[in-house]
Amino acid sequence: MSGLVESFADFSLLWALTYALTFGSYLIFGVLFTAWANHHPERKIQPRRDGLKRRNKEIAASARSLIVTCACFAGGLHLALRGYTLFDPLALTWWSAPLMFGASVVLFDTWFYWVHRLGHTGAFKKWHLLHHQSVAPTVWSNYSDTFFDAFTQQSYFLFMPLIAPFSPFVFVAHRVFDHFNGMIGHSGFEFAAGPSSRAPWPLASVTFHDLHHSTFNYNFANHFSVWDRVMGTVHPRYDDAVVAMETRVAGGDAPEPRDVALSRDI
Ligand SMILES: [Zn+2]
Ligand SMILES: [Zn+2]
Repeated sequence: MSGLVESFADFSLLWALTYALTFGSYLIFGVLFTAWANHHPERKIQPRRDGLKRRNKEIAASARSLIVTCACFAGGLHLALRGYTLFDPLALTWWSAPLMFGASVVLFDTWFYWVHRLGHTGAFKKWHLLHHQSVAPTVWSNYSDTFFDAFTQQSYFLFMPLIAPFSPFVFVAHRVFDHFNGMIGHSGFEFAAGPSSRAPWPLASVTFHDLHHSTFNYNFANHFSVWDRVMGTVHPRYDDAVVAMETRVAGGDAPEPRDVALSRDI
């Protein structure tokens, strides 16, 4: 019994540490990013919408939902470190580490696509709508969601360490990547527009998930456009939108009103 109490105390400490690091770096990165983004209007994906007016609501919602996100991550890490895994983790080497990391990212993208579609289905929709109140997402929007969203999406980090033979350190690295990638992916500013983020290549740009927020029924995946292309849910003008952003960012010009059609009528 005392072993169980001790285990729960260890988990609670890890949970609290994960929360402090995640929420703390979310706030610091959000402030730094916003200061930088003010100087780059040419990268703004929906120039006519001011997503920042929801900032305080999004920070408050994030403070709540990160309780679940961090519990999932800390729970998976705690159990894996105690050896409650189906397989022994593969050895970490200079070649196996990036391979396991890449495999985890691909697995997570598949997980994310399907649980995210669940959130857009029938009775589950009401628990996903909070996240969609951010029509023009910002760096503050990533964790602005419900406990349902947080658990369905982030329980990957609770369950997968128990069934995939990856080192716990791979999941730590993946979660850190997912943390910053999620904030940048919601930032409303394009960084990744280029040939590799449009057909026939599989990567998704920031515009990909931004279109999910502005049009609701398209682009459900996270890192790659593959599942959306296979399932017919990719936005019909996504590839054109990436080309338009590439041109605009390369020119370094703030968008003209006519460019706004890109974000308004699709
Ligand atoms: Zn959604
Ligand atoms: Zn989102």
